[in-house]
Amino acid sequence: MHTKIVIGLILGAVFGAIFAINPNKIELSFTDRTESAENWQEFSFMKKDSVVKSYSHDDQLAIIKYYKNLKDKKDVKLKIRLSDGSEKVFENVTSLEKIKTIGVWLKPVGDIFVRLLNMIAVPLVLASLIVGAASLTDLKHVAKIGGKTLGFYALTAVIAICIGLVFANVIQPGHIMDPDAKSRLMDAYQDEAKTKIDQNVSMNIVDFLVNIVPKNPFKAIADGDFLQIVFFAILTGIFLMQIPKERSEPVISFFTGISEAMIVLVEKIMIIAPYAVFTLIAATVAEFGFSILKTLMWYSITVVAGLIVLTFVEYPVLLKIFTKIKLKDFFRAQRQVIAVAFSTSSSAATLPVTMDVCEKRLGVPNKIASFVLPLGTTVNMDGTALYQAVAAVFIAQVFGFELNLTQQITIVLTAALAAIGTAPVPGVGLLMLIIVLKSVGVPEEGIALIIGVDRFLDMCRTVPNVIADSLACVVIASSEGELGKIDPDAKYEGAM
Ligand code: ASP
Repeated sequence: MHTKIVIGLILGAVFGAIFAINPNKIELSFTDRTESAENWQEFSFMKKDSVVKSYSHDDQLAIIKYYKNLKDKKDVKLKIRLSDGSEKVFENVTSLEKIKTIGVWLKPVGDIFVRLLNMIAVPLVLASLIVGAASLTDLKHVAKIGGKTLGFYALTAVIAICIGLVFANVIQPGHIMDPDAKSRLMDAYQDEAKTKIDQNVSMNIVDFLVNIVPKNPFKAIADGDFLQIVFFAILTGIFLMQIPKERSEPVISFFTGISEAMIVLVEKIMIIAPYAVFTLIAATVAEFGFSILKTLMWYSITVVAGLIVLTFVEYPVLLKIFTKIKLKDFFRAQRQVIAVAFSTSSSAATLPVTMDVCEKRLGVPNKIASFVLPLGTTVNMDGTALYQAVAAVFIAQVFGFELNLTQQITIVLTAALAAIGTAPVPGVGLLMLIIVLKSVGVPEEGIALIIGVDRFLDMCRTVPNVIADSLACVVIASSEGELGKIDPDAKYEGAM
């Protein structure tokens, strides 16, 4: 299964690259036909025969967005100038789109896979945390395991943020960036940035804490608000221990049934993983504008280098300090977890797989895995925290702000908090970055600079996010003397 997923991933990337969307071609629709404009040197929008806005050959996205936001589309003519100097004018255009390729058409298969995993995540977190909290012997035991878990998560997050800050200050990606690229990115992504800023994420720590308490747990479940679900589930589990056994046992066995059924279901869903991963990666590669990766190359290198050090230096050191597990076995056991996290960009979607792998391959008893992992999926996001630190420093550098030591320490604290508040689904890390930017007085609009590469960096940062959860799981189990037999190649599917 693992080999098939990796093959799916590689073939998906190759397929996506072969059938990539042409970045220099746009489909123009008219009321009665479609035409394509390609290989332009200059793409201009005109009103009453005078040019109001011009774009160059690699501005496909900005052109489409500019057109979408135009109010008086009917009065606008489009003019393209080709490299041989010839010009073509189009009138009465009704829409502008990228031309989709087969690389993107297959994506619904991947979307179904991600939706299936997400479908499982909420009931699994709820059921397994209730059972997990209820199966710890008493309140003291819950406090002990909970304290150890949160302490370990805080430790890994702070180290991760420091790694990010060191890389951002040494490489200084924002100082290397061309000022022309800055204005082009701000122009292309300012509307998307504004929509995110308008979501108005609060940085008030009191509000943050108050909001963890759900007014209505069913609404929290319906909204997929993981922090609120975790809060409700742990309390329910704890107080199930306080009532007479004959009444708590049926409830616990009900939730155990749900949790076990979800795990068996995920094993079945994983049968389509190789194909789903193929389509997800193919669509991402086909749609991805590689020119933007070039523009933001130093920023992306800084984030990825930080994530590599986090995953292959920080985690192995912690594994060595806190457990006797061999590094090779630990990473071997994580193969599916890494592939699913990378292709779905979602810790929540990966949770069912992480849980199964921790129990079956890393020898973590169910009562620890079912407590530590859902909690970790929700609050522990080292990759995201590191990314937020790098992004904040990068944006500050591009805008010409020099961050002093106090501001960098503020980043450590707010990024740790922002990562806790980040929902384990794609793209939220970018939204929560606004909190970090606000805390050090860097303009929030700066997120426009990095939106274009966010999807790719989201895939990368989700991998350490989930590995850290497994790491915490084995560390806690080992500290409790409860780590069972490790079998990194244990058969994964077919539990039924
Ligand atoms: N996609 C990340 C996760 O699910 C969260 C984020 O950084 O956006 O872990």
